[in-house]
Amino acid sequence: MVSKNTHINEVNELLITMVQNKCINPPGTELKSILTIENHLKQRNIPCKIIESAPERGNLIAEIKGEGSSPSLMFGPSHVDVVPIGNESAWEVEPFSGIIKDEQIWGRGTLDMLFIVATQVQAFVRLHEEGFKPKGDLKLCIVADEEAGGIYGTEWLMKNEPDFMKVDYALSEAGGIPITPGKLLFGTGEKGAAWKRVSFKGTPTHGSMPYKSDNAVVKAAIAAEKLSKYTPPINLDYIKIMVNGLGLNRITRFMLSHRLLLPIVLRTAHRQNPVMARLLHALSRMTISPNIFHGGTKTNIVAGEAYLDVDIRTLPNQNDEYIEKQLRKAMGKLGEEAIIEQPPDQPGFFTSEGTASNPESEIVPFMCKAVSEVYPNVQFVPLVVAGATDLRYLREQGTQAYGFSLFDPDTPLNTMAKLPHGPNERVNLKTVEYSLMAYYNLAKEFLGQ
Ligand SMILES: [Zn+2]
Repeated sequence: MVSKNTHINEVNELLITMVQNKCINPPGTELKSILTIENHLKQRNIPCKIIESAPERGNLIAEIKGEGSSPSLMFGPSHVDVVPIGNESAWEVEPFSGIIKDEQIWGRGTLDMLFIVATQVQAFVRLHEEGFKPKGDLKLCIVADEEAGGIYGTEWLMKNEPDFMKVDYALSEAGGIPITPGKLLFGTGEKGAAWKRVSFKGTPTHGSMPYKSDNAVVKAAIAAEKLSKYTPPINLDYIKIMVNGLGLNRITRFMLSHRLLLPIVLRTAHRQNPVMARLLHALSRMTISPNIFHGGTKTNIVAGEAYLDVDIRTLPNQNDEYIEKQLRKAMGKLGEEAIIEQPPDQPGFFTSEGTASNPESEIVPFMCKAVSEVYPNVQFVPLVVAGATDLRYLREQGTQAYGFSLFDPDTPLNTMAKLPHGPNERVNLKTVEYSLMAYYNLAKEFLGQ
């Protein structure tokens, strides 16, 4: 039998190769890493299938068939595409080197989410090599295009491989994060995403005599300020489930469960722990961020047109109608004349509604067991993540989908919040080892005889 250390070496190698494959999205070119994984599986006589979705883009699926007597479980959908590196001078290492330094693997995509791809593949390999006979199907699903909305990845598979994608449980990014002793966060839901263009019309006249002019740029500027300062209705449901699980002291719990006290908590938290403040803010409401401003045609002409592109993130159950109503309210008088529509298609654009899975489903106790070697008697605390992940596609069809991996106790939450999509992205070797163990244990326990 292949030793545990061999599996750890193999998983690190796989992860490093995928970093070096440089599947930056756009354009993605994920087929490089998909072929790396196919090769890894083929060398071990494990059948798999590649589903190409565009030139140089593709997805990989594999399966250990169960007896059908118990729920099915998917490792994934887990994505191999990564975001651009940003300012290279901010990096301490070459961003696609995959170098090991200070007990960590460095490079774009290591944390988001190649370490999960590598450990899910390797856990699948290990179970396959051991002749694992699951009660329910165990599926492996590695995808392209998550960073740009999933059209060529998970969405493609939902349309083209619907039978394979029908699963009871799915595990992917954003989970297994130590937050306080004895507690791990795990993703149980996510906010929705909607981009809106808010446009204004003005009356173009000569810029040399602007008195009482009807200027679209000025309207858009005032609207931008109003939108950024507006407080949409507060909903504490998603903070409460997290806070209850965290076992915070009574005063903090009290403060966090009263709408009127929330602004004070946010201001205090922002001084001590800005990441936590941003998270609590995002979990308590629909957020509105005007991020692009365009207007006017020439410096000596009063602007006849201007628009703002606004990033809006909704809580579960907040639909388009809700968004529009809130935006108009936020802009006051200007809301009456604003034209609100979807911006034209652009790379990375997508709309999704917020989704949530049951934080107390039957797999959760098995998660606790799967990580008990590293975290004995641990409790999983549900987290609705502010960003969108591919799990929303599965939740929409009724799958209980969770963020689940296993971070080592030395990874502080603050570092973790900064590294994905930022410079010097890296993952601890221990996190890779623990995640491999967690996926292997969970599948074995949950689907085992
Ligand atoms: Zn990701």
